[in-house]
Amino acid sequence: MEDKAVMERKEGFSLKAHKIVVLLVDDQRLIAEAVRRLLAEADDIEFHYCSDPADAIKEVLRIKPTVILQDLVMPEIDGLSLVKYYRAHPEIRNIPVIVLSVKEDPKIKSEAFAIGANDYLVKLPDKIELIARIRYHSKGYIYQLQRDEAFKALQESERRLAEMNQVLMKLSFLDGLTGISNRRRFDEALEAEWKRAIRNGAPISLILMDLDYFKLYNDYYGHQDGDECLKKVAKTLESSIQRSTDLVSRYGGEEFVALLPETNAKGAVMLAERMRRKVLEQRIPHEKSKVNDHVTLSLGVATAIPEIGSSPDTLLKAADDALYKAKQEGRNRVGVAE
Ligand code: GH3
Ligand code: MG
Ligand code: MG
Repeated sequence: MEDKAVMERKEGFSLKAHKIVVLLVDDQRLIAEAVRRLLAEADDIEFHYCSDPADAIKEVLRIKPTVILQDLVMPEIDGLSLVKYYRAHPEIRNIPVIVLSVKEDPKIKSEAFAIGANDYLVKLPDKIELIARIRYHSKGYIYQLQRDEAFKALQESERRLAEMNQVLMKLSFLDGLTGISNRRRFDEALEAEWKRAIRNGAPISLILMDLDYFKLYNDYYGHQDGDECLKKVAKTLESSIQRSTDLVSRYGGEEFVALLPETNAKGAVMLAERMRRKVLEQRIPHEKSKVNDHVTLSLGVATAIPEIGSSPDTLLKAADDALYKAKQEGRNRVGVAE
């Protein structure tokens, strides 16, 4: 069942650990060897090398560096164009790029920064400085990745929470045994419908129902069969209503209630009769009943046209009185409020 799966799914997340990964893109193997040596002692830095600029994008996507060391002068493609590609690529655009230039040239430097390079070093840089800058840029990038992950995880858990709330909401409105609407749902619906009826000047009816001699049923057939009987009756009652605004709820132990907005007394009595008949037609054996060989119920119908400032309690009381009358007059019948 999907609801259960949702409930069981684990909450919480942990941030992924990221290590510092450098990708050097440079056509000269000698430079690569030199950089590798410079970084050899830095245990926290993983070094990768791409000698063919044509493979650079592919390698960046594969290796997922936390910083790119980009040579500027290469055959076929110049380093600055490559930096532009990086900046245009959705998966690469945020990876920091340190350009490696052969000389200190203000024009190239300003161009490099203008197209999105993050740093500028002259080859071969000093070891301490290189390591420091790699760490600095990588940590900034890793922080950004973690922030994005945390944000995503947060969104995901918010989504799950909303999903779970819906499940709980649904469960909190359903009766655990019969699966039909419960007392809480009925109380809320009655309040809402009562107010609506006041606004519309429309009638509202209630049918309160109680199984006949159900204590004897339990005593004779056992509690488990009693539960099965209640489920069957609930289903029968629910299948008796036709309007989507009508609501059948379990009111208490072996009591049910139907809320019928915009329904006058005549309509409510007709529906009550139909419910009585349909339950009897289920022909659920009830040896010990004093009124029939099968399970029956008694019903009380009450109707009101609510007035401003009135509460639905009087309507409930009237339905209860009508039910009592039905019991008094012999059960398995519909009582109607005055
Ligand atoms: P009456 O015709 O006057 O309504 O008699 P009754 O025996 O139905 O009325 P009473 O209120 O004395 O007994 C109701 C019984 O309903 C008590 C209990 O055994 C049974 N009952 C209430 N809730 C449940 C339930 O959830 N499951 C089962 N199996 N039985 C229930
Ligand atoms: Mg009862
Ligand atoms: Mg009863």
